[in-house]
Amino acid sequence: MLQALQSPAQATYGLISGQILFLVLNTLGLACFAYIVARRLTPLLHGERDLRFDRPLLRLEKVLQFWLGQWKHPRYRTAGVVHILIFTGFILLATRAFSLLILGISENFALPDSSAGIGHFYEVIADYAATVVFLCMVFAVVRRIIFRPARYEVPARHGKSHKVDAIFLLGLIAILMLSESLFEASKAASLAQQGHAEFLAFFSLAWVLRNALSSASQSTLWNLHRGAYLLDVLTFYFLLCYRPFGIQFHVETSLFNVYFAKLDRGTVKPVRWGVSDEQLDQVKSFGVKTFEDFTWKHMLDFYSCADCGRCSDNCPANSVGRPLSPRFITIKARDYSFQHYPMFGSAGNSKSLIGGIYSEDEVWSCTTCGACEEECPLLIEYIDKIVDLRRGLVDDGNVPKSIQKALKALESRGNPYGKMEKKRADWTKVEDFPDIKILNGKASADTLYFVDSITSYDDRIQAIGRATARILKDAGENFGILGAIEKDSGHDVRRFGEETLFMALRYHNVDAIKASGVRRIVTADPHAFNALKHDYKDVPLVEHISQVIAREVKSGKIKLSRVENENNVYAYHDPCYLGRHNQVYDEPRDVLDAIPGLKRVEMSRCRDRSSCCGGGGLMLFYEPKEEERMGVKRVQMAAEAGANVIVTACPFCMVNMEDAIKVAGMEGKMTAIDLAELVDQHIAREGPKAGVVREEYVTA
Ligand code: SF4
Ligand code: SF4
Repeated sequence: MLQALQSPAQATYGLISGQILFLVLNTLGLACFAYIVARRLTPLLHGERDLRFDRPLLRLEKVLQFWLGQWKHPRYRTAGVVHILIFTGFILLATRAFSLLILGISENFALPDSSAGIGHFYEVIADYAATVVFLCMVFAVVRRIIFRPARYEVPARHGKSHKVDAIFLLGLIAILMLSESLFEASKAASLAQQGHAEFLAFFSLAWVLRNALSSASQSTLWNLHRGAYLLDVLTFYFLLCYRPFGIQFHVETSLFNVYFAKLDRGTVKPVRWGVSDEQLDQVKSFGVKTFEDFTWKHMLDFYSCADCGRCSDNCPANSVGRPLSPRFITIKARDYSFQHYPMFGSAGNSKSLIGGIYSEDEVWSCTTCGACEEECPLLIEYIDKIVDLRRGLVDDGNVPKSIQKALKALESRGNPYGKMEKKRADWTKVEDFPDIKILNGKASADTLYFVDSITSYDDRIQAIGRATARILKDAGENFGILGAIEKDSGHDVRRFGEETLFMALRYHNVDAIKASGVRRIVTADPHAFNALKHDYKDVPLVEHISQVIAREVKSGKIKLSRVENENNVYAYHDPCYLGRHNQVYDEPRDVLDAIPGLKRVEMSRCRDRSSCCGGGGLMLFYEPKEEERMGVKRVQMAAEAGANVIVTACPFCMVNMEDAIKVAGMEGKMTAIDLAELVDQHIAREGPKAGVVREEYVTA
């Protein structure tokens, strides 16, 4: 038999037989990997509970869509396509990798059977897969070195660049692809020289190498053959054991991370899983203060991050220079975990994360807009972690002063402005405004219009409340408001980490809503909408006013007149808590498109990639360190899209947009209007007011 045809198991390496050598290498490699993974998983055993074993079919669906289907990757076209090619290549090469490892200890082992048609077919597929993966590695290295996409860069405040590590790993994968192709090519070249032409996939790496080696001597080919095999095995196990020390660990953890991903949008995790609201007073410490306060799933998130930078690239806080970059929330926690839980020896004492790896400003800078989570291909969660870190700060009394004031007012008056409860319905007391039922036990209605604090008390925003009420009247709704007995929905109180206050507000509102006897709730405030839909329990179905308008425009109950100024160009800004968190993207656009003559354009960032206006709720009371305002960026985007009117469907967006128009010096060039106001302005009503622009909407 020709030497070049020998299996690595029959070869000798120095004085050691191949079979013994590879038996030792396989055993050592697997044992090392098992040890490393066990050490890496140790912190998860110390983490908090997280109930992620429900709804297995839905979880499986997520795996098929986001892991196997790589659903989110093409959101970045070039990198996404490259990742899909690499991922598909790895899946296809998994059988060959296993087969190659066994070949070292079991002579002529092949899976699938190489003497059968299926075996040949698989070899061709695997040859192309290895070639594609190799080329992708070359491409990725060139991209990292020459084109250097900004999202991979590490700002100085977050530590050292990750480039060398990334290139090293890409290089190792390239070596793996090269070594297995060389192993095959050297054998094929040897056979070809002896008249036994073996089919290799045209233009594959193995095919190119075989042709390049066609005139090499038999002994060179034999040395290359067994050398390539040894290199392949060593690289495989080195990669396997090195991956858990860095970003490549996601290769192992991503499947589990996606399976255990959060299933419910718009929700916030409970203070402690398995502890009911009624038992919360028995919880000694709220939120996350040390690493072990994170849940095991959140720790798994830290291991699963691929360091792709998509989250931070889309984070509005990061883009305006706030001290927050979600990618580094993960990377810093992962580095902490690696140092704190070393490979050998026992774990160190737990240290406070705030002041240790995170700063307070970093944690308060998040608007909970959800852009990072929407973008992450591995479904890594941020909002729950940030809320948990805030809960820890609140528990220790470390709350920024401006927010403390608002929280105190919420506690005493039920609104963050500290205004009198009895003035809550004063927005209805204007001339020419129809009577609105107050559902405080004296009247009944089918529908509750939940107004919430900003619309009740802010002089400018009250116009949105009046527009909403008029639209509900026009739609023939039998509705009322809670008036003085309504309290703040508590949406942002919860997201700022004040769970106990949130619960008090929720209990109060739920009782008032139940006592009103309504069958449904409507609100024009996406924050209230999200709270009533996801944070409250046992309340009737809730809709945002844009959904009601869209339906009633369709049914013909609401008729819209022609736009007054046909030169205006409108751009719709998706509020985070209506769009990303609740997937209401189409209805507001349908409403705009139903106004005859209205010209609408889309901003570069729209729908699930919409950019946060600066945040709602308590964000209005917090002045973070930043280089630029998020709202200013947003109105500039509207101008770039060719719009001169920015339409939103959230009172907080309205405050931020109008402020941004002034700050950006765009008064007279750009106007902001709420969707409800725009519709109220265009409802074709009977009588002299039909089609007249109300003074209260003239904003700039
Ligand atoms: S939720 Fe928004 S602001 Fe917060 S980290 Fe994610 S992208 Fe940034
Ligand atoms: S969290 Fe997700 S989006 Fe952000 S860097 Fe990691 S893998 Fe990429």
